[in-house]
Amino acid sequence: MSKISPLVDSLIEAFQCLPGVGPKSARRMVLHLLEKDREGGKVLAESLTQTLSYVGKCNECRIFTETETCIICNDKKRDANTLCVVASVSDVFAIEESHQYRGKYFILHGHLSPIDNMGPQELGLDQLFHIVKDKQLSEVILATNSTLEGEATAHFIFEGLKKINSLTISRLARGVPLGGELEYVDGGTILHALSGRTSLK
Ligand SMILES: [Zn+2]
Repeated sequence: MSKISPLVDSLIEAFQCLPGVGPKSARRMVLHLLEKDREGGKVLAESLTQTLSYVGKCNECRIFTETETCIICNDKKRDANTLCVVASVSDVFAIEESHQYRGKYFILHGHLSPIDNMGPQELGLDQLFHIVKDKQLSEVILATNSTLEGEATAHFIFEGLKKINSLTISRLARGVPLGGELEYVDGGTILHALSGRTSLK
């Protein structure tokens, strides 16, 4: 790509940190901002700075939030006895859009993957196990992806929780029962919503 100005060139370079954005689409975005929407670009820059500076993870479910605990965890109308374990925040969006799930969530931010240095600690599994035990939850839905890594992660979590007699453990992604008493709240609808989700990989 030909270079025209250090600032413009570095902005084009910076846009390419986004998934699916290569040199050409990055250049198109930068030229659009410079030619047609400088105000929009400033709003974008300010919002990016604010969001990346202040958004962390919820102390309970690990969803992205700028407060200690998130809106979902603080929602008293939600079923506090059911926890849906998902790999990423995009899965939460998919399930929420189905309007069929009223429990709470735990976000792993990945799957077990030794190659990527993703172990139980990185996924917050100790925290997950403590929450399930301390709050005496009645059901954990394992909604990790049906990839090898997703299955391995679900299996690891199942092994860590299976001794809790009062707990039902269910597997959402392919409807495979891991625990004895699999019982979906509304499995078909949630399954449908999940199957339509966008994979980050
Ligand atoms: Zn939360």
